[in-house]
Amino acid sequence: MTDPLTGLGTRLRLEDKIARLIGKRQSDPAPFAIAVVDLDGFKPINDLYGRSAGDGILKQAALRLRAALDDTSTVTRTGSDEFTILSPFIFSAKAAERLAHTLVAVLSAPYDIGARTVRLTASVGSAIYDDACETASQLIAKAETALYQARRTGRNRVVVYSRELVEAAQSVTRIEQALRRAVSSGEVEPHFQPIVEMRTGRILGFEALARWRDADLGVISPGVFIPIAEERGIMPDLSRLLLIKSAETARNWPDPLFLSFNLSSEQLIDASTAGEVIAIADRVGFDPKRLEIEITETGLMTMPETAASIIAEFKDAGVRIALDDFGTGQSSLGRLREFPFDKLKIDRSFVSGLLSDRASEHIVRAILAMCTGLGIEAVAEGIEEKAQAARLDKFGCLLGQGYLYGRAVSARAATERVAKPLS
Ligand code: C2E
Ligand code: CA
Ligand code: CA
Repeated sequence: MTDPLTGLGTRLRLEDKIARLIGKRQSDPAPFAIAVVDLDGFKPINDLYGRSAGDGILKQAALRLRAALDDTSTVTRTGSDEFTILSPFIFSAKAAERLAHTLVAVLSAPYDIGARTVRLTASVGSAIYDDACETASQLIAKAETALYQARRTGRNRVVVYSRELVEAAQSVTRIEQALRRAVSSGEVEPHFQPIVEMRTGRILGFEALARWRDADLGVISPGVFIPIAEERGIMPDLSRLLLIKSAETARNWPDPLFLSFNLSSEQLIDASTAGEVIAIADRVGFDPKRLEIEITETGLMTMPETAASIIAEFKDAGVRIALDDFGTGQSSLGRLREFPFDKLKIDRSFVSGLLSDRASEHIVRAILAMCTGLGIEAVAEGIEEKAQAARLDKFGCLLGQGYLYGRAVSARAATERVAKPLS
């Protein structure tokens, strides 16, 4: 029942302790809590620095958890990089959440391994025992469901199990299944939003944005289904479908008009991405020189070397690269020097704040000055009002996109719009 490495109890010990506590609480009905703690990014440490480094971190983590808890709590090691804590005197979800945040903080401090230090984060799933009919393993399963949800929604997170959580998980599964069906029958469509020269309103190109309507579920926004597609491995097929359809539409537009296509973060860790995109453009008969690829900083962060080689391959084929949502996420000015961006898209949040807060105004002006200096084009996103466009124009921003100039419309509507003689 004891783990030789850390000296902590094992899963068996945990189950035994929980079962005994459940027995005790039969006569004294009060809730208690368990928390499953998972170290994020532990596996690469083992691979990079060797097993003994990994063992050292686990020992330090075990000590920190012990030190962070009072004597009434039990810490056990329930997986290779997973610990489970039993807290008999945590009675509410609120308290469980507070405790979990403390554990994350404690585990996030740097670890010494030999001459170096490394940093890890942790994810925690908690569950409260408040149903007298529950068994130890049912309770653990709940905490694991919560942990899964915490990891799913980004690491370094804390989730406490609840009914709503289960319903949310079921709804994700329903969407996933419907999306798989829609992708294989080609039912997800790109719509096209104009990107214009602000002074004249002339359309220079369109950004393709995915649109999906399911017969049963109704319209589902890309903000919902794109993350699900990424997480459940549907993105490669979905993206291929959208690119084929987008390029088939864009090849009918007058020549200089470009197509701007979003790549998701996970496509930037797959070295074959650029080759596939260019092959599709070639096959469809759309000149890659009229193609722009929008990527986000998050996408560049995960595997910078792979992302750099994908970008280089795109550039060789004449595909232009735009940095999307600039100013949100982990923006680093250094990135602008490391990667050869052609274009930078100023995030909508700055444009919407432009007229009301000074900070947004200064940030936008600084971004524009920087773009001019670096020879990068700037596009302002999410322009809804004339006054915003006027302000951006005053600051020297040439390109814009937003409801003021048009929402994303069907392939047919977009093509009709550019086929008309410009007035
Ligand atoms: P994004 O790439 O930043 O796309 C711009 C989003 O802003 C779109 O939302 C667009 O409809 C919306 N938008 C444009 N102008 C305005 C405006 O003036 N006001 C407001 N309030 N919103 C405006 P949408 O279509 O819901 O897409 C959301 C996100 O989903 C996109 O953000 C992108 O990250 C992702 N996405 C959409 N289609 C695709 C796709 O084909 N592939 C990938 N990888 N991601 C996609
Ligand atoms: Ca975009
Ligand atoms: Ca954007």
